[in-house]
Amino acid sequence: MISVFTLYFCSFFLVGAVFSKLRRNRDGQYDIEAQLQLLPRGKRQDQGRHECEIFTHGDEVEESGEAWSTCSKNPGHDTFIPAPEFCLDHLPECARYSSVLELVKLLSLLTVRLRVAFTSWERPKGYTFHNYRGSTEQHVGSGFVQDIIPGHGSCPCRECENSPTPAQEWFCILIETACHVVYDTKEAESTKVDFFYDDASSRTDGRMKSIFAKETILHSQDQDFCAMLCVTHDKRLSQEILQYKQQLDKTYQLYRWYKNKFDDSMMADFYSLCLIVSHPHGHPKHVTVGRTERFIRDDDFMKVSYTTDTCCGSSGAPVTVIDIYKGGNDIFSNKGRGPHSESLCVNGKTLNMSAEFLTMDLENNFKLWAKNNQHADFRRLTTEAIRKTCFLGVVFCVWLFLMAYLLGVFTPDVLF
Ligand SMILES: [Zn+2]
Ligand SMILES: [Zn+2]
Repeated sequence: MISVFTLYFCSFFLVGAVFSKLRRNRDGQYDIEAQLQLLPRGKRQDQGRHECEIFTHGDEVEESGEAWSTCSKNPGHDTFIPAPEFCLDHLPECARYSSVLELVKLLSLLTVRLRVAFTSWERPKGYTFHNYRGSTEQHVGSGFVQDIIPGHGSCPCRECENSPTPAQEWFCILIETACHVVYDTKEAESTKVDFFYDDASSRTDGRMKSIFAKETILHSQDQDFCAMLCVTHDKRLSQEILQYKQQLDKTYQLYRWYKNKFDDSMMADFYSLCLIVSHPHGHPKHVTVGRTERFIRDDDFMKVSYTTDTCCGSSGAPVTVIDIYKGGNDIFSNKGRGPHSESLCVNGKTLNMSAEFLTMDLENNFKLWAKNNQHADFRRLTTEAIRKTCFLGVVFCVWLFLMAYLLGVFTPDVLF
């Protein structure tokens, strides 16, 4: 009899333990189907041709090192140049201009690593990491600082939101990446943006700065594009980013600018250079150089394919195309950058492909957000004022009641 009871209780705890390991979906139901699908497959395989790196819950540096040394796509990574070591010799001869080197340096400084610690429940069936919805296993990609502007009102960063004295001087940073790296605001909220992870020592000497992203303002699954926001009241960080952004704009002024003109038919007259700065395998940033293979253009979008090397962790990295005219010294650029999206194999040759180049006007969305935040800030202050008034009202009523009681207006008989 005792053994039957023991067996009964053991099985009860066993079932409980199994269920406690299962993730609940957002309706509170156990997602057994998703959990079973997880068992035989790794998250890395669940992304198809996209190139995120996956960190489980171990030591990040060790996991990143292991992924780097066991990489089968680019064993040895000979073509990946550590960003601080990049010099003119790494560029093809026809592209050895100081303005191109300056451009690479600034692109490097504005490239960020993204560590996404939550996979959204909103990822649709069949889409990257769908089977990992609700998981806290990190996927890692790259991103780029597209813009930075001053904010209005109180700083909405995590620290200031819970502070009675929020900072009043803060900046809003616009980061672009691929949609499969950061899908929506839920994921953005769990994304750490690592600025200035330039070399291994950046982690320990204070150079690398990490802040949580706040929300996505634009995401397109079809275009594999995502624009998200970060906010910071760290003056040193914001001033440094601002300075590099202004320098980048100046460097682009040295180039001849074209818009929607360039296509495959003109490629014979140009050397079309394709540069990528990324965080391969979650490592510090590296630069790879290659050629643009094809432009895929429609009225509303442009994608490019390229020979430039990429690895897991390069997803979302800025892909920059500049064209050097073979008959002279002219360098052309459309200022566009598309996030790196996928790794292809065409006729036995590895070819990589960008998501869409930025052709939409993000600037207005960005300014609108900063303005709306001012309204949100106003709403927050109003709610706070109402709450304080209510509290003072209650205190006053209690005081009035006590005074009335003490002065003998009420007696216990009246009260009870
Ligand atoms: Zn690799
Ligand atoms: Zn703040």
